[in-house]
Amino acid sequence: MTSVVETAASPRPPRVGIFGLTGCAGDQLQILNCEDQLLQLAERMEIVDWVMVKSNSDRRTPLDIAFVEGVVATRRDLEMLRQVRARAKMLVAIGTCAVWGGLPAMVNRISRDELAREAGRDVSDLPETVEARPASEFVPFDLKLTGCPIERDEFLRLVHAVLAGTRPELPRVPVCWECKAKENLCRVIHFGEVCCGAMTRGGCGARCPSHGVACGGCRGPVETPNYDANITMFRDRGISWIEIARRMERFSAPAWMKAGLEREVHGGQEP
Ligand code: SF4
Ligand code: SF4
Repeated sequence: MTSVVETAASPRPPRVGIFGLTGCAGDQLQILNCEDQLLQLAERMEIVDWVMVKSNSDRRTPLDIAFVEGVVATRRDLEMLRQVRARAKMLVAIGTCAVWGGLPAMVNRISRDELAREAGRDVSDLPETVEARPASEFVPFDLKLTGCPIERDEFLRLVHAVLAGTRPELPRVPVCWECKAKENLCRVIHFGEVCCGAMTRGGCGARCPSHGVACGGCRGPVETPNYDANITMFRDRGISWIEIARRMERFSAPAWMKAGLEREVHGGQEP
């Protein structure tokens, strides 16, 4: 991994930029929500380009670390992403949209006519868009931090690790693992619901099942999700295949479509 740590040859704090492509800006807000800890971090790095918080952002200076959230949904997004990649030694994807596509990538299966109708606008008033894809599909990223939005403590651990010249330890276990550790009643077994916990990357502390709500998969898939086994588990409980597929594609449509969900979502055929 590229080192961005201050050295004798480079006696200055790392220069940082934070950028948003198409998305809700929720990950940037999570960084702002770090409040006191963010102020402490700001003493160890120089935030030079962050349009959300700085009126005098420097758009040109080379960066040691750049954080990017959102999907590429317009040509302008792609141009900006390439510029940031060329400018930064280390590029970090933040949020499910940048890593997996997130909710904005669901737009790909809705026609522009339908979008205009829903928005009460004329099609010609809609912005020019391209197929919405995760930023991580267009340029190489050095690190990826998923979450919708990202978890504050994970972000802080990542930044501390990078400033120390190491790699952060990010969770690889599924949400089910954290859910079991909390001794929650399983939403699938006890309530017959579609819960994506077994296929979703942990790190949120099983937040939703801990509050009596099935996991919607907002952190994206684990490294090797066993889609077929989960489908069988849900089908054995009488849950519709299409209901399962639609729930799983919600936050990571491009990834799940590659895994074969297209057939279920668009075929509309029950087995
Ligand atoms: S409730 Fe969901 S996350 Fe928890 S054990 Fe059951 S399937 Fe896994
Ligand atoms: S339980 Fe699932 S939907 Fe809820 S925050 Fe965690 S990953 Fe997201």
